[in-house]
Amino acid sequence: MKLHCLGTAGYHPSETRQTSCYFLPESGIVLDAGAGLFRLPSLIETDHLDILLSHSHLDHICGLTFLLSVVFQRPVSEVRVWGEPEKLAAIQSHLFSEAIFPVELDVQWKPVVAGHAFPLAGDSMVLPFALEHPGGSVGYRIDWPDRSMAYVTDTTADPTAEYVPVVRGVDLLLHECNFRASQDEWAIKTGHSSTDRVGRTAAAIAARQTWLVHLNPLETSDDPVGIADAESNCPGIGVAEDLQVIDF
Ligand SMILES: [Zn+2]
Ligand SMILES: [Zn+2]
Repeated sequence: MKLHCLGTAGYHPSETRQTSCYFLPESGIVLDAGAGLFRLPSLIETDHLDILLSHSHLDHICGLTFLLSVVFQRPVSEVRVWGEPEKLAAIQSHLFSEAIFPVELDVQWKPVVAGHAFPLAGDSMVLPFALEHPGGSVGYRIDWPDRSMAYVTDTTADPTAEYVPVVRGVDLLLHECNFRASQDEWAIKTGHSSTDRVGRTAAAIAARQTWLVHLNPLETSDDPVGIADAESNCPGIGVAEDLQVIDF
């Protein structure tokens, strides 16, 4: 199974990172619809797209307005956008209000409820689970017959959090890490994670591979999170890059 990192930044794009968007071409599953979504067309292998939204903050949804261009370049018969009902309602009434985006999109809006799993095409089972974040967010665990992954973004990592047992032992964990260990106060204040707490949480989850995502766009060095502060608890943990393809 391959996962394409189309956007690994939080908040706003940088010269090298678009905002949150990940793609599983074999299943047609898109995780979040940030600015990286414009990169989708040449990668599409299915006749449908299932876009799973963690929440409706702009860095996770602005790319929905690029869907016209995506399906113009690579037509598909169905696009489904999944998210919590109040988030979908906010997107429809605000992002797609006539004053902001005056063209109607041909998509199906599909509600999810934390704790209630549902099947998707390509024999995958998707389990949304609640995450602590201002306004609320959901993570997703996806299981295929022989593979599993979890997407945990926009929350404050904690080894004792309720989501830890839900995703324990997955083959691939994408976990947000917006701040360095020294910026933990900011992480807590904004509902995000810092390197040290992600390392301890990733150790408790014990995924086969763990990659850090939702990186601070102001961090432009080769070491945007101070990875050593996570490696001490979780050896092998990596920082995802835009256009990286993760095999799991
Ligand atoms: Zn975000
Ligand atoms: Zn957010």
